[in-house]
Amino acid sequence: MTPPTPAVRDRVLSLDSTELPAYVYDLAALRTHAAAVRDALPERVELYYAAKANPEPEILGALGPYVDGYEVSSGGEVAHVAKAVPGRPLAFGGPGKTPDEVTAALEQGVERFHVESEYELRMLAELARRVAPGRRVAVLARVNLPVADGSLAGSSLAMGGRPTPFGMDPARAEPVIRRLTDGSHPQLELRGIHAHLASGLEAAEQVAVAESVVSWATGLGVRLEEVNVGGGMHVDYGAPEHRFDWTAYGAGLARLTERHPELTLRIEPGRALTAYCGWYATEVLDVKHSHGEEFAVVRGGTHHLRTPATKGHDQPCSVLPVDAWPHPWPRPAAEGGTVTLAGQLCTPKDVLARRVPAAGLRAGDRVAFALAGAYAWNISHHDFLMHPRPGFHFLDTAG
Ligand SMILES: *Cc1c(COP(=O)(O)O)cnc(C)c1O
Repeated sequence: MTPPTPAVRDRVLSLDSTELPAYVYDLAALRTHAAAVRDALPERVELYYAAKANPEPEILGALGPYVDGYEVSSGGEVAHVAKAVPGRPLAFGGPGKTPDEVTAALEQGVERFHVESEYELRMLAELARRVAPGRRVAVLARVNLPVADGSLAGSSLAMGGRPTPFGMDPARAEPVIRRLTDGSHPQLELRGIHAHLASGLEAAEQVAVAESVVSWATGLGVRLEEVNVGGGMHVDYGAPEHRFDWTAYGAGLARLTERHPELTLRIEPGRALTAYCGWYATEVLDVKHSHGEEFAVVRGGTHHLRTPATKGHDQPCSVLPVDAWPHPWPRPAAEGGTVTLAGQLCTPKDVLARRVPAAGLRAGDRVAFALAGAYAWNISHHDFLMHPRPGFHFLDTAG
């Protein structure tokens, strides 16, 4: 059981059934967490937020005081984030940038481009010449580096260290870096190297990745100001109280910055910043038995919270009992000790959590699913079955 914060609990219990499901975000909790992350990092490490994890304007705004900028991965994100947090530095990464997106980003004054291929470098150079004459556009070359055996062992999604469409093979990156330093593209400035190699890594693994990226980058023998070592800090959905060790990670990065006083290090976490501040709250509609297992069907489902279906986990949750039962028909209740929580979709994949200890769970009880602040609503297939959309509540108890 993963209880919601008091503010979230009160809001969930105050909503009418017809106002459920709802996403409820605790912005005060988000600020506290982001402040702790910032404090754990050495001063010379810049913190960017990867907007794709959760681009709600309220979330982007709440993170504002604690981050140095935002990492965006599409033209849509460039426009959206520039509007939500005007004037903040943006780094534009991601594969398959189109000429229109690059043009719009140049017009928007995006600070940095993470270049993913030689093709993209040549496109950017030409568009920069046309769209931003006289301006030098900062480029980080994204590389897909091999990593020391075992350091990606715990990773759930590897973007690097194996064949992927992300970044450049180190052998292919070298000519790109040469073109950026030999005067071929005077409108572009090689600012540094970018690598985002995996997600789901613990602090020690992240430090090992950062060390290998910095060591490769400094071994190039060209002047670099920045190395961006990516995001991917682990969020443990099976044990939500076990959080990424930002203190150990910060200490590892501090050792690295001491060895390389000439470099600014940057990290760009998404999930580990915002996952904990969001809850998906709903109510139980029905409780039933099927072949020896007990099921509770909740209002909503994986079309709103796709995370457990995509990642193959049980979404941590807690039950908020509601004693009142407004209907004249009997109220179904669980008889066994564990209940599988399913949604309203007509597919066996619509399961939010299996065999949750929830003895006595009744229709009308509320359930708050935790860790729903990242890769949750925005990765879900909202229109499947045409159920109503959830409500959105951004609680800011700090004012
Ligand atoms: C998605 C992504 C991130 C953030 O990853 P998290 O696992 O959410 O921390 C950072 N950098 C790049 C390039 C990404 O694609």
